[in-house]
Amino acid sequence: MTCKGKLIIILLGPPGAGKGTQAKLIENKYNIPHISTGDILRDAIDKNSTLGKNANDYMHKGELVPDDLVFDLIKERVENPDCKYGALFDGFPRNLAQAKMLMNIQYVKQSKNFFVFLINISDDEAIRRLSNRRYCPKCKSIYNLIHKIPERKKNGIYLCDNCGTELIIRDDDKVETIKNRLKVYHESAEHMINFFKELSVLHIITNSIEQDVFRDITRIIEAESTLEKD
Ligand SMILES: [Zn+2]
Repeated sequence: MTCKGKLIIILLGPPGAGKGTQAKLIENKYNIPHISTGDILRDAIDKNSTLGKNANDYMHKGELVPDDLVFDLIKERVENPDCKYGALFDGFPRNLAQAKMLMNIQYVKQSKNFFVFLINISDDEAIRRLSNRRYCPKCKSIYNLIHKIPERKKNGIYLCDNCGTELIIRDDDKVETIKNRLKVYHESAEHMINFFKELSVLHIITNSIEQDVFRDITRIIEAESTLEKD
């Protein structure tokens, strides 16, 4: 499916909401690139562009890359030919300041098909999902004790289906860290969510099963946009 005008989608939601999975599904269905700040930063650093060098300085010092620099990188990124029919943002904007910046980009202003989806899961559900993640330090496979359970166990420890290595819980997926990530999320997301609500572009998805979330998202896009079937 392609778009008459540009299709711009922003995915919001707490850690564990499954934004990455939805991003892949949306990217495939609507042929728009999935733009994440992490990828943009890595890309700019690889290319050794001026912006990339600046970003690298901050990251090297272990500091957050400032909003205006992220903004410049996003502006540069949407000029790429693959963004001709639109773009999907994941992990950006992260706060109200970034949201306001984004709405000021000409590329975004011109789009008649602009959607913000908030995949809303409770903190308890986020903790349940993330704390059940297991990770293979060797081949980097990711498991989940709720729906992607490894087949073998040794001395009470799950083993990687792929390479037999003992699986670990990443620091990011430890309950205390998850609680902290959720706190940071709520603090920075609340004002941004209200901002999008006031612009009447916010859609809150309350389903939590992957297929249902995707079905809700596509229904909304198809009902409210100028999309055309190929
Ligand atoms: Zn493995």
